[in-house]
Amino acid sequence: MNQEFERIFDDLRAKQLAGVHTLCPRCGLDKMKGKMNCNALSRHVRDMFICDDCGTAEALLDFMKNPLPIAEWAIFHPERPAGDFKATAGEDAWKEIQAEQAPFLIRLFKRWEQELPDADFTPYRYEAQKMCKGLAQIWERPFHVTYEVADGTLMLRLQREEDGVQVTCDMIRKDGNV
Ligand SMILES: [Zn+2]
Repeated sequence: MNQEFERIFDDLRAKQLAGVHTLCPRCGLDKMKGKMNCNALSRHVRDMFICDDCGTAEALLDFMKNPLPIAEWAIFHPERPAGDFKATAGEDAWKEIQAEQAPFLIRLFKRWEQELPDADFTPYRYEAQKMCKGLAQIWERPFHVTYEVADGTLMLRLQREEDGVQVTCDMIRKDGNV
């Protein structure tokens, strides 16, 4: 399991230990019992409580030697933020993205840089989708994201430079010109 999965599970594990009511991280439903240690312990994620139905499902899938991939857990399929930039001109969208999303994307890029070459990008993609309004797609190598805007598609590329992470924005217009 790569660092980003671990980080997300660590956050949740701390909440579970503190007795905070959470949704079941595997199915995403509000089925966790109030007393945390009355719930089922996951067979696949260390010290992680899941609801009883998920505990049973894990046992059955294990029996069939076909466990659910961790990336399919509900905790990695967050709600998308409301709104997008489809009615906003690219230039205005870029200003808003630069102010509100670029700092987050730079932090995400830096964490991804720390991963091993074969790390799974899935939790990074889900985190970006959760945090970034209007984000259409995100790719890891090279690290870039796209947004649909009124006059085309914005593409942001993040690159490591000597003095930090540089974000470059390009507009791909509907007529195909950059
Ligand atoms: Zn569950």
